[in-house]
Amino acid sequence: MEIHKADIIILGAGLAGLRAAISAAETNKNLKIAVVSKVFFLRSHSTAAEGGTAAVLYEGDSYDLHAYDTIKGSDYLADQDAVEIFVRTMPKEVLDLDHWGCPWSRLPDGRIAQRPFGGHSFPRATYAADRTGFHALHTLYERMLIYENIERFQEYFVTSIMIDNGTFTGLTAMNMKTGEYVIFQGKALIIAAGGLGRLYSFTTYSHTVTGDGAAMALRAGLPLEDMEFIQFHPTGLVPSGILITEGARGEGGYLLNKDGDRFMKKYAPQKMELAPRDVVSRSIMWEILEGRGYSGPWGPYVYLDLRHLGDEKIKERLPAIRDIAIKFNNINPKDEPIPVRPAAHYTMGGIQVGNDTMSPVKGIFASGEASCVSIHGANRLGSNSTAECLVFGDISGRNAALYVEKIQNIPDLNMDKVKEEENWLYKEPFKERGSESVATLRRELQNTMQEKVGIFRNEKDLTDALKIIKDLQKRFDNVYVEDKNMYYNTNLMTYFELRNLLEVAEVVVLGAIARKESRGAHYRTDYPKRDDVNWMKHTIAIKRAGKIELSYIPVRVTKWQPEERKY
Ligand SMILES: Cc1cc2nc3c(=O)[nH]c(=O)nc-3n(C[C@H](O)[C@H](O)[C@H](O)COP(=O)(O)OP(=O)(O)OC[C@H]3O[C@@H](n4cnc5c(N)ncnc54)[C@H](O)[C@@H]3O)c2cc1C
Repeated sequence: MEIHKADIIILGAGLAGLRAAISAAETNKNLKIAVVSKVFFLRSHSTAAEGGTAAVLYEGDSYDLHAYDTIKGSDYLADQDAVEIFVRTMPKEVLDLDHWGCPWSRLPDGRIAQRPFGGHSFPRATYAADRTGFHALHTLYERMLIYENIERFQEYFVTSIMIDNGTFTGLTAMNMKTGEYVIFQGKALIIAAGGLGRLYSFTTYSHTVTGDGAAMALRAGLPLEDMEFIQFHPTGLVPSGILITEGARGEGGYLLNKDGDRFMKKYAPQKMELAPRDVVSRSIMWEILEGRGYSGPWGPYVYLDLRHLGDEKIKERLPAIRDIAIKFNNINPKDEPIPVRPAAHYTMGGIQVGNDTMSPVKGIFASGEASCVSIHGANRLGSNSTAECLVFGDISGRNAALYVEKIQNIPDLNMDKVKEEENWLYKEPFKERGSESVATLRRELQNTMQEKVGIFRNEKDLTDALKIIKDLQKRFDNVYVEDKNMYYNTNLMTYFELRNLLEVAEVVVLGAIARKESRGAHYRTDYPKRDDVNWMKHTIAIKRAGKIELSYIPVRVTKWQPEERKY
C-alpha cells in the first residue's frame, strides 16, 4: 500500500485544481500540497476549452453589466453575491495569467483582445486563438512547477473521500500504473474533479469526464446542488460531438436551416446566434422537430456557416475549428458549412459550497465545474466557466491554506473504512457473475439520458428514465471486469467510472422530475413557464441510508430582480 501525507490534497488538475494549487502554495510556502489526477495533468478536460474566458477589461464594459448578463443568463437562479465576487475578481486573473506567460490574442495596438460571446452584452471573452483552455492550462502548469511544495500524482484514480466525525481525513485511490492501493491523508481537500458530460451519448466532453467527484461526494454524504441543470451547447460537430466553439459565432458565423434561413431571427431577434446557449439549442431543436433541419445517417443537423468570414480570418481566429472540420469531416469551412447539433456540454450543478468554496463538511472545499457556488444558476454563459475555475480555484486554494494553518495534526483515518474500500476495489469488480459489460450498460445509460433527459423533458420521459437507471444500477451487479492484469487496467477504471455515472444520473433525473417549471437549460414541455413563486430556489440532494433526499434553499438576490428573458 502506498501512503502519502500532505496538508492540502487537491483532487483534479484542470484549471480549477492547478489554480488552487498555485494559490495555496503562494499563501504559505511551508505547506505540503498534493495534486492528484487520473490523467496526466495537461490532459484534463480544461485543455479542450476553446473560445474564451470572460472578464471586464475595457471602458464601455462594467462589473454590473457582466453580473447582470450572468444573472439574466442563469434565468435568475445564480446567487448574486457570488456573481459579484466573480466579476470583480476576474480581471486580475486574466492579468495574472498574462504575467505568467499566457499567449492571449492581441489587438493591433498590443492590448489583450476580446471577442463577443453568447448572452454577453459586451465583447468580453478573452481568448488565445481558439485554444484558450490549452494555453491557460499550460500556463498554470508551468507556473505550478516553480513551487517546490507542490507534489504531483498523475494517473492515480481516486475512489472515495473519507470523512470521520464530520471532518475530512483522506482519500483512497489506485495507482493506475501498478494497480497498487493508495491512501492520501491530509488536513484539507479541494475537490476540483470537473463535470459529468459523459452521462450523455452526444457530448463535447472527453471520455474521462464521468462525474467521479460528484459521485464520491454523494457517497461520502456531501450535498449536491442543482444537478438537474445540464447545458447543451448549440454546436456539436455531427457526428463526433466535438465542440465547434461559440467563438465561431462570436466571430460572425451564422446558423442556417435547410431553407437557407438564419432562423435565429425568429427566436432571438436582437442577439440572433449570440443568444445564450439554452435559447439557441432549443431553437435548433425546434427547427429540426418542425422539419427544417437536414437529416443524415447520423441524425438531424443544421448548418453553421463560416464561409463569409474568409480564409484568413478563419485561419487566424479559429485555427483549431478549421483543423477539426477538415480532419473529422473533410470540410474546409471557407468552402462549406459545418453540420452541427446541440451536444451535452456543461454541468451547472455540483458540490454545494459557499462563496468561500467551503462545503458543509470541515476541511472539504470544492471549485471549478465540480462545484456549485452558484454563479451559473440554471444556464451558464459561454466563457464564464474557465473564468469561474480561475476565480474560485484561487479562492479555494487560499482558503484551504488558511484553514490548515490552524490545524496541528493530520487527523487519523478510520482504518476499518480504508480496509472495507480496499476489499471492494480489489474483489467486487472481479467476481464472475454475469454477462453484462461496462460498454453495454454505459451505452444504455447514455442513450437514456440523451433521449429522455435532454433539451426537452416531460414527466413521462423522466419517470421512464428513472426506472431504467434504477434497473441499470441493479444490472451493474452483474458486470465484472474480465481483465485481471493490474498494470493500467483501463477496463477496471471504466468500471469505476460507470458506477459513478449511474449514481449521479439518478440525482440529475430526480431533480428534473421534481422541478415542475422551465428555467434555463431545464425545459419541461409539460410546464413550459418559469415559476418564480414556487421554484426560484436551489435543489439540494443528499444521500442518506442509500436513498437520495431532495430539499431546497433560497436563491441569494442582491440587486437584480427577476424579469422576463428576452434576447
Ligand atoms: C470542448 C470544451 C470546450 C470548452 N470551452 C470553454 C470555453 O471556451 N470557455 C469556458 O469558459 N469554458 C469552456 N468549457 C468549459 C470548461 O472548459 C470546463 O468547465 C472547465 O475547464 C472545467 O475545469 P475543471 O478544472 O473544473 O475540471 P477539468 O478540467 O475537467 O479537470 C478535472 C480533473 O479532475 C481529475 N479527476 C476526475 N476524476 C478523478 C478521479 N476519480 N481520480 C483522480 N482524478 C480525477 C481529472 O483527471 C482532471 O485532472 C469547455 C468545455 C469543453 C468540454
